[in-house]
Amino acid sequence: MDSSKLKDKTALVTGAGRGIGRAISVGFAAEGARIAVTARSTDELESLVKEIESSGGTAVAISADLSNRSLHKKVVQKAEESIGSLDILVNNAGIGSSSNPQPFCNFDDAFWDQSLELNLTTPYLLSKTVLPSLLKKNRGRIINIASVASKSPQVHGVAYAASKHGLLGLTRTLALEMAPSGITVNAICPGPVQTEMNDKRIEYDAKRLGRTLAEIEANITPIGRRLQPKEIVPMAILLASDDSSAITGQAFNICGGMAMY
Ligand code: NAP
Repeated sequence: MDSSKLKDKTALVTGAGRGIGRAISVGFAAEGARIAVTARSTDELESLVKEIESSGGTAVAISADLSNRSLHKKVVQKAEESIGSLDILVNNAGIGSSSNPQPFCNFDDAFWDQSLELNLTTPYLLSKTVLPSLLKKNRGRIINIASVASKSPQVHGVAYAASKHGLLGLTRTLALEMAPSGITVNAICPGPVQTEMNDKRIEYDAKRLGRTLAEIEANITPIGRRLQPKEIVPMAILLASDDSSAITGQAFNICGGMAMY
C-alpha cells in the first residue's frame, strides 16, 4: 500500500526557490504531491524542479514577482494547467526586516508598503484566487508561513512584525469562514531559520548589539541554535494532508522553544 501522505494532491508553493519554501516543496513532492513552485529567480526554480524530478516527482516552475497583483491569476492558471486543479496553497514568499532594518522614526515608508504587499496582501489575494477551485471540491488546505514575529515585536522591523501579525488575522478569519466547507487554513510561525533572509538579520543584530555571530547564534533560541528549513517541513506536511481535517485557524510555533504562547 502507498502510504504517501500527499498522494494525488496538487500544491502551489510561493517563494519556493530557496530556504523554507524550497524545503517544503521537496518534502511535499516526496510525499507524492505534484508541485507548482513560484518565485522571481528562474535559476533557483529550475534547479528545484530538477531536484524534484530526479527523485521521481512532478514539479513545474512559474517565475513571477508576486508583488505584482496582475500576475496572481496567471500564476494560478498556469499551475492548474500544468498539474491540475489545486488542493493546497502555501503562502510562503516573504520579505524580511533584514532587507531594510530601521528604527521606527526612520522607517522607510516605501519598504513598509513593499513588506505589507508581499507578506500580507499577496497571501490575501492568492487565497482569493485559489478558493474557487477549493470550494468546488469542498476540500483544500491553505498554509500561511507566518513567524514568531506574528506574536511578538521585532526591533527595527515594524513592517515585518505588523505584516506577520496581520497574516494571523487573515488566517483565523478565513479559517472561520471556510470551516463548513472542508477547507482548512492554518499558519506556521517559525523562529530563526538558517536561510538567506535570516543570515542577514543575525548579521544586523550582531552589529547592532556589538556581539559576535557565534554569540548571537548560541543564544538565539533555548535549543542554542537556529533551525534548519527541513525542520519546518513535517508540520507543513501534516497541515497539507487529510490527517489534519479538524485542525483549522491555528498558528503553530516551530522555534526551538523561543515562543511558548
Ligand atoms: P528566503 O530564503 O529569503 O526565501 C524567500 C523566497 O521568497 C525566495 O524563493 C524568493 O525568491 C521569494 N520571493 C521573495 N520576494 C518575492 C517576490 N516579490 N515574488 C515572488 N517570490 C519572492 O526566505 P526564508 O527565510 O525561506 O523565508 C520564507 C518565509 O518564511 C517568509 O515568509 C519569511 O517571512 C518566513 N519566516 C522566515 C524565518 C527565518 O528565520 N528564515 C522565520 C520566520 C518566518 P526570489 O528572490 O527569487 O523572488
